[in-house]
Amino acid sequence: MQFDQLDLAEPLLLAVKDKGYQQPTPIQQQVIPLILQGKDVLAGAQTGTGKTAAFVLPLLQLLYSQAMPGRPRPIRVLILVPTRELAIQVYDNIKIYAEHLPLWTETVFGGVNINSQIKRLQRGSDLLVATPGRLLDLLYQKQVSLQEVNHFVLDEADRMLDMGFIRDIHKIMAYLPKSRQNLMFSATYSREIKLLAGEILVNPIEAAVDQQNAAANTVKQKIYPIKKENKRELISWLIGDGQWRQVLIFVRTKHGADRLCKQLQNDGIRCAALHGNKSQGARNRALAAFKQNEIIALVATDIAARGLDIIELPHVVNYDLPQVAEDYVHRIGRTGRAGVKGEAISLVSAEEAHLLHAIEKLINKKILRVEDTGFESVSLELAKKPSKSSTKPKKPQINKPRKQRTKSNKPAVKRKPSSNNKRRGDKANVNRG
Ligand code: AMP
Repeated sequence: MQFDQLDLAEPLLLAVKDKGYQQPTPIQQQVIPLILQGKDVLAGAQTGTGKTAAFVLPLLQLLYSQAMPGRPRPIRVLILVPTRELAIQVYDNIKIYAEHLPLWTETVFGGVNINSQIKRLQRGSDLLVATPGRLLDLLYQKQVSLQEVNHFVLDEADRMLDMGFIRDIHKIMAYLPKSRQNLMFSATYSREIKLLAGEILVNPIEAAVDQQNAAANTVKQKIYPIKKENKRELISWLIGDGQWRQVLIFVRTKHGADRLCKQLQNDGIRCAALHGNKSQGARNRALAAFKQNEIIALVATDIAARGLDIIELPHVVNYDLPQVAEDYVHRIGRTGRAGVKGEAISLVSAEEAHLLHAIEKLINKKILRVEDTGFESVSLELAKKPSKSSTKPKKPQINKPRKQRTKSNKPAVKRKPSSNNKRRGDKANVNRG
């Protein structure tokens, strides 16, 4: 199928051509005609499938084909997203796709001054991309009206729920007119997502392009079973030895992100940390430096990295496995986007074996193990519970005096095997520019 078979107006076809898209992605082929018909849609599309254009293009088409309202333009399309980064990204996409159309778009999100957003909103806008918290602030201050919204999009709905936005979503929906088109996009489906879809969507059509809860098959996934204390050296070595030029590294905590980033810098790897404690300015600068290849590694927590679209990002590393299995799919979805090949490596310690098993159960696939890292490999098998038949019946203990532990019967402390691989970590000790 070609874009010109999708009933899109010439200015949109031109924008798509400018962007260099050859043909619509599968989600675009499925969803664009449904949105143009005015249907409510629940789309199970993971990141990197082209899902933003799948809703933005037809919505622009619908706005363009309606009579232009007077000025200031009322908001007719509301797109709710979970994070500032995603808001900026969707906003940037809209500007590109709407380049040849007389339509205006704005975005509002927290962490930056509200007054400049208020000023911009006063000029009027056809589309608004917003994060829930800041939008509610603006609604409470009566600085924005959603009364004319005809099309409501909930993007990355699963992440909205993970981040605890469900109450905010309900509050925002109370400001929307009853009659409207609703679109919901989610990378993963859970019971909660289906419940939310039941509340928001009316007779929705379900569209799913890939197997749910699976990563794009352009992503090569690997597991490195390794001791926790060797992870830092291994990642430095992988970057240095592989001459990686761009890697997104996920860690669990903000503190962990700062610490790893410092350590990588000590190894001569240009790096920045991205997490919720950083100011919006610092987050934007880190992201810009990463996209422009000024730094090699971006060490991020899940929330900060949500929705990042970095063209042809070659490597994603899970330095820590995520606590929630679905986050694995989101994380590795940062690479292998729009048909480009990518690699997702997870450094997994024995303590994280249960998380790995939950992930493999979710994606319904055993991920390839790479043992010859030069570092001592660890077992990622889950400890088997003893079966009932094999457990010996306990002897009843009758008034048996407890044996006192003396110095001589203390269990011997096992010595940590020393890493014989300093050599490998050292390879990254080269300042590559
Ligand atoms: P998304 O899933 O919306 O985050 O999009 C992922 C990437 O795919 C973005 O870099 C888009 O610019 C790109 N993209 C979207 N649609 C197409 C298309 N039809 N052909 C090629 N790339 C696309």
